[in-house]
Amino acid sequence: MEDISVADFVREHFGEEFLTYFVQPFVSGIYAGDAERLSLRYAFPKLWEIQRRYGSLLKAFIREKRVAPKGELISFEGGLKTLVDLLAEKIPNKELNTSAEVIEKEEDRYRVLTDRGTFVGKRVIITTPAGETAKLLRKVFPPAEAFKEIHYPPVAVVSLAFPKIGLDGFGFLVPKVEGLKILGAIYVSSLFPDRCPADEDCLSVFLCGDTQKEVCHQSEEEILKTAVGEIRKVFPQIGGIKFQKLKLWKKSIPQYTVGYGGFYELYEELKRREPNLEILSNFLGGSSLAKCIEKGMRLTIGV
Ligand SMILES: Cc1cc2nc3c(=O)[nH]c(=O)nc-3n(C[C@H](O)[C@H](O)[C@H](O)COP(=O)(O)OP(=O)(O)OC[C@H]3O[C@@H](n4cnc5c(N)ncnc54)[C@H](O)[C@@H]3O)c2cc1C
Repeated sequence: MEDISVADFVREHFGEEFLTYFVQPFVSGIYAGDAERLSLRYAFPKLWEIQRRYGSLLKAFIREKRVAPKGELISFEGGLKTLVDLLAEKIPNKELNTSAEVIEKEEDRYRVLTDRGTFVGKRVIITTPAGETAKLLRKVFPPAEAFKEIHYPPVAVVSLAFPKIGLDGFGFLVPKVEGLKILGAIYVSSLFPDRCPADEDCLSVFLCGDTQKEVCHQSEEEILKTAVGEIRKVFPQIGGIKFQKLKLWKKSIPQYTVGYGGFYELYEELKRREPNLEILSNFLGGSSLAKCIEKGMRLTIGV
């Protein structure tokens, strides 16, 4: 089966309406992406494989009962930072807040040049975003320059807290045709009860992504205003905002677009030429947190 966009696949099999009201919002929720550009094969490999094997998602559904990708919402008591803090505590001999500049090769060893000196090792595992990875590899594997083409759309996440209105459930995603300038929202207080005071509700509003990039061209103050204004359209009963905070990701999630196979070919070539250099970044082999953890465990302890 050829490498086609998620939108073309859905349009052909389920129609335009299903794409507009179900699949595009879902794609915005997972990738902050555009279904017209994302590749079914590389962004949703399980769906692509099922379609290839059964020739039809409906047939697969009848046989396997479940074909949609699993929603993966992971967090920890105290937030995701808990995981990072624990890793930092358990890993000996670490250099935090150190910027790696370039990797060089000397016989069978690699030298990683950083802003705090040079580190030498037989094996190097790279976990940086695509542009940085290209920069690090420029001496040992110049073709990696192509990784700079991998696209990361901007995403703004606005956290809001307000007097309790009884938020219940996961949240919602917004079809673009509805005209709201947000991608969706997650009901944080409903999912993780320790995140705000008992008499308040809190949620995270997601904005921009590939389908509403223009929202991120606004100032931070305007983005906050947009988020609050749009949430008030959905929940007019919200009282005074008790807390608001914006986190802007200028380059958020790598987009596994049509033609992404070229990047995997490049990665295979790197592995052939430099078997002791590994890329474990989220722009190869899946970007969900669960996938990143799984890839790390498989590589380091063989699970
Ligand atoms: C807004 C947003 C929402 C998301 N929501 C979800 C979700 O709900 N569920 C889910 O599963 N996934 C989600 N993801 C995706 C997931 O969080 C990421 O793919 C995953 O956390 C990536 O982890 P990572 O460690 O591979 O990369 P990153 O977290 O990008 O870490 C890369 C690290 O490399 C460092 N670095 C960069 N350059 C250098 C250099 N030259 N030298 C040294 N260090 C360098 C950076 O400082 C950074 O710490 C979301 C992502 C974003 C941006």
